[in-house]
Amino acid sequence: MRIFDPHIHMTSRTTADYRAMYDAGVRALVEPAFWLGQPRTSVGSFRDYFDGLVGWERFRAAQFGIRHHCTIALNPKEANDPRLTGVLDLLPRYLAKDGVVAVGEVGFDSRTAEEEKAFRHQLELAKEFGLPVLVHTPHRDKVEGTRHTLRLVEESGIAPETVLVDHLNETTVELVRDSGCVLGFSIYPDTKMSPERMVRILSEWGLDRTVVNSAADWGHSDPLTTLYTGQRMLEAGFTDDDVDRVLWRNPVEFYARSGRLMLDDGTDTGGTFSGNSILRGERPDPGSQAGPEGGAA
Ligand SMILES: [Zn+2]
Repeated sequence: MRIFDPHIHMTSRTTADYRAMYDAGVRALVEPAFWLGQPRTSVGSFRDYFDGLVGWERFRAAQFGIRHHCTIALNPKEANDPRLTGVLDLLPRYLAKDGVVAVGEVGFDSRTAEEEKAFRHQLELAKEFGLPVLVHTPHRDKVEGTRHTLRLVEESGIAPETVLVDHLNETTVELVRDSGCVLGFSIYPDTKMSPERMVRILSEWGLDRTVVNSAADWGHSDPLTTLYTGQRMLEAGFTDDDVDRVLWRNPVEFYARSGRLMLDDGTDTGGTFSGNSILRGERPDPGSQAGPEGGAA
């Protein structure tokens, strides 16, 4: 089983996690910029965090044979802090970097006016930089939050297939499916979405435009829930090819739209984390549909 985890916060995880993920088949992942639990008080904290995502964490993952990519954004929760509005001005220089494969996580936490303003602004940045978008949907009032999210996506004029709407469940799958956006499901150990529920959704709705992630972070979470979902799929009668589609080809196709995926054997080539010159992606032909290895440098 080869696994591409399209949403996992490795900065919060240990080297033992990296080793277990490699053993489970994880060969590439995307780490979205998000809230760190402890609120940040200045724009400089974001600069250091973003530098860590494109630098040190990528290097650390490579030591364990895993290709690390990230998404960059001002997250919905901290969009409410007036001390951090300057983060929006920082984004363009990071969105131009190799290894940054989407704008995200953007979206809504409490659905305030400030969140909406930051969300709209970042949808425009995604269009400007030709990048996909990773959208966080609120855990409270999920249906209305998702509906509102899809409205803003539509108003922005961005192509729906370049937008991944994440943290979905049984109540939001149909809405997002009808919108043309990509469907993301975060599988948690005890609460929210489980591997068993995920398999039921796949059985009912099929595998199109659907990705599964662990969303593992500093909270109660498990970086191997992608593996468990693949195992439950096989037990339920899905084929190896079906599992490969959900756990590898679908997320690769989505993020390959950035033209910056790096999918070789994942081993570090330089022994430093000093730069994009070591790990350089190439943009695929515009209009050509990326295949399983699409966008690989
Ligand atoms: Zn997240």
